[in-house]
Amino acid sequence: MHHSMLDQALTRLEDAAQHLHLDSDVLEKLKYPRETTKTRLLIRMDDGSRKSFMAWRCRYDDTRGPTKGGIRFHPDSTMDEVETLAFWMTFKCAVMNLPYGGGKGAVQVDPHTLSKAELERLSRAYMQAFSQIIGPDRDIPAPDVYTNSMIMGWMADEYASIVGRVSPAVITGKPIALGGSLGRDDATARGGFYLVRHLEQELGLKPGATVAIQGFGNAGSFMARLMAGVGYKIVAVSDSRGAIHAPDGLDVAALVAAKAKGPVTAMANGSTIHAIDPDTIVGVECDVLVPAALEDLIHEGNADTVKASVVVELANGPITPEADAILASKGVVVLPDILANAGGVTVSYFEWVQNRQGYYWTLDEIHTRLKAIMETEGRAIWVLAKDRGITVRQAAYVHALGRLAEAIEAHGTQQFFAS
Ligand code: NAD
Repeated sequence: MHHSMLDQALTRLEDAAQHLHLDSDVLEKLKYPRETTKTRLLIRMDDGSRKSFMAWRCRYDDTRGPTKGGIRFHPDSTMDEVETLAFWMTFKCAVMNLPYGGGKGAVQVDPHTLSKAELERLSRAYMQAFSQIIGPDRDIPAPDVYTNSMIMGWMADEYASIVGRVSPAVITGKPIALGGSLGRDDATARGGFYLVRHLEQELGLKPGATVAIQGFGNAGSFMARLMAGVGYKIVAVSDSRGAIHAPDGLDVAALVAAKAKGPVTAMANGSTIHAIDPDTIVGVECDVLVPAALEDLIHEGNADTVKASVVVELANGPITPEADAILASKGVVVLPDILANAGGVTVSYFEWVQNRQGYYWTLDEIHTRLKAIMETEGRAIWVLAKDRGITVRQAAYVHALGRLAEAIEAHGTQQFFAS
């Protein structure tokens, strides 16, 4: 039987609900997306022709505040994927106790085939199409796969011209010059890094341990730098075009420089650094495996090959529920996406706060606040997992669902909907 991605994701909610003995009202509220808007964006191409692209924005749940979540530009994006990512955002914001619900957006496009001018027109068209849904107190986008601060800047600018006033809090991950926050660039990786460092003893890790990273974009490349910076050894990395393996460790600075010009496989030299089949990165000999690309990397068919003792999910949804069970039975500890990659949305929250107060924090303040939240929520979830004998993922869902249930009840029977 074919299950949608969202159906799969919801199994984690149902599982957590059982642990909390929640009544069905709470589940009824959380098991469907509140609203998903779909449109085709029609833009002018550089050669004068017109081209259209499917686009979505989902506001999954706003019980705890305005919806928050990134915009992905990817040729394989679907509505099901957008709704699933928005569901995860709902739980991620609750895990971190941020005053947000969950949202997500996407455009079905391969942005690498567009010129910079076309990319700008597409980004502005997205904001025009969804400007009634989006807003600083309603729905606040951010970057995700194949979108970046430049795109957020164009979108913020477009929103300002639509509403007729400067409104930086409408979107996060902006360039610093347009009200972006210091520390947003590496926040996703840094949050995961702080979490690993905080739990090193419990996880049986220490600097010198080996790390393999799938995906070398925002999340993956900053994770490589941060882990290598304290002495971890990066032994394998991949991107959309291939993978490399270096049992003695990679020079991360050289790798970052090479990646700026081409694929990571350009680093292969046939002696110390080998090109490998990207599908085999899951089973590479290492202590820590970091998925930092797309969904469903580890599934029923390859979970058994995992050699790492710890998996840090910087990507959203890289492990299927079937693979989760296999990893748990092997004793592999998974630090789940809704906790491990929540540093990104947390610093996005800091950006939104700074935009609204018009007073900007130092990089040190950002790091200190991020570290404190990662450690507080990470520790609470770790203790919950140990106390109840459940996985860290189950504990993260239980932790978040408790907060969501409390908010759902506090709203009463006639919940205000910002619509
Ligand atoms: P990005 O666009 O900066 O990087 C994506 C990387 O994945 C690129 O290096 C690309 O080459 C690689 N990739 C694509 N397909 C691949 C494949 N099949 N195999 C191996 N590598 C592949 O995106 P990002 O922002 O780093 O996002 C990566 C993951 O992290 C996503 O799951 C995203 O949802 C998640 N995430 C991102 C943020 C954020 O703030 N950017 C926050 C939380 C979670």
